Amino acid sequence: MGLSISEELAQSYIRIMSIECDKVKGVNLSQGICDIETPREVMEGAKNAIDAGMNYYTRYDGIPELRAAISKKLKAHNGISADPETEIIASGGATGALFSAMLALVKREEEIILFEPYYGYHLHTLQAIGAKPLFVRTSPPDWKIDFEELERKITPKTRGIIINTPSNPSGKIFSKEELRAISEICARHDLIVFTDEIYEYFVYDGKKHTSPASLPELADRTVTVSGYSKTYSITGWRIGYCACKREWAERIGHINDLLYVCAPSPLQWGVAAGMEKLPDSFYRRISGEYQKKRDRMCEVLDEIGMKPFIPNGAYYVLADATSIEGKSSPEKAMNLLRSAGVAAVPGRAFYHDDAGDGLLRFCFAKKDGDLEQAYEKLFSLKGEKNGKKI
Ligand code: PMP
Repeated sequence: MGLSISEELAQSYIRIMSIECDKVKGVNLSQGICDIETPREVMEGAKNAIDAGMNYYTRYDGIPELRAAISKKLKAHNGISADPETEIIASGGATGALFSAMLALVKREEEIILFEPYYGYHLHTLQAIGAKPLFVRTSPPDWKIDFEELERKITPKTRGIIINTPSNPSGKIFSKEELRAISEICARHDLIVFTDEIYEYFVYDGKKHTSPASLPELADRTVTVSGYSKTYSITGWRIGYCACKREWAERIGHINDLLYVCAPSPLQWGVAAGMEKLPDSFYRRISGEYQKKRDRMCEVLDEIGMKPFIPNGAYYVLADATSIEGKSSPEKAMNLLRSAGVAAVPGRAFYHDDAGDGLLRFCFAKKDGDLEQAYEKLFSLKGEKNGKKI
């Protein structure tokens, strides 16, 4: 099934902004490319595996060492029990794991609840498998969920709900109370929870990440998806996974086998080595370093009159772009690029209608030098502005 023109456009906002940004040699804050260094342990693990000839297909769900490491980490960090033999599937990134899970468990025409603002791939995955999104809007500054509205949208065709915590683009961290309320609704309507926790280590101000599957009442109805693209800065390696009960894992494993055969073998070894060797302090350091980047970015956006909605996690900031000239968020993004040389993503990319038109998304997963260069460019606007729209 193809995507409609408007959906294709929504998908390509980031691409368009990146191309336009290159043309003007601007600083690209539109994309979530982590140019932070990959840990040595992870790289050595992969290099050693290549040297040792680990170049062949692995089992469809990953090497035992990686599944064992994921199982151990899920227990210690997330409070989730998953049998490494039967309940964990390594896949082509979190993207591959989620796609396999959706294809395995959701039928065409079934409905899935998707919170707005959403991550584009979640919507496009639903569209690609022929499922129907039911949008439930959360609003800034605190992105609270209207549970009554959520439950009103549910029909006999509704099969599940997608949670992204911490969330791209809002940075929302789902609280235990919210997850409990979701679990009650899921129990009443027998829904599956698909949870994407790729930013689980990017949490700020001492906030805690809670995995939905750690709630006993959700454990058996949840597919937990995560991966190491962000945590180890290996977005191009394509190593992610999902964990769920055995009956579902068998079906997901079958699809994963059809789509990918297996995740890249030496890179599975690299991630397994990193998981084995890196101390807890490594993961704590990520939060600390990114929190500083978040604080600085929010401070700058505030100073230039683009009120930031301060994220609790992940590495994006949604900011109020009413001070930027333009009728729509794509126009505003282009105007900001033209006047300041900084690329951001139009808010429209995260909503199914024009609700995001007052917003721009900035990514702070960048080296400090690049961020400072972007900030200097943004500050130059202050001088030009003189009370006028940019
Ligand atoms: N989920 C979310 C919410 C993301 O923002 C991204 C990256 N943009 C991904 C998944 C991609 O993860 P992976 O590289 O493991 O496929």
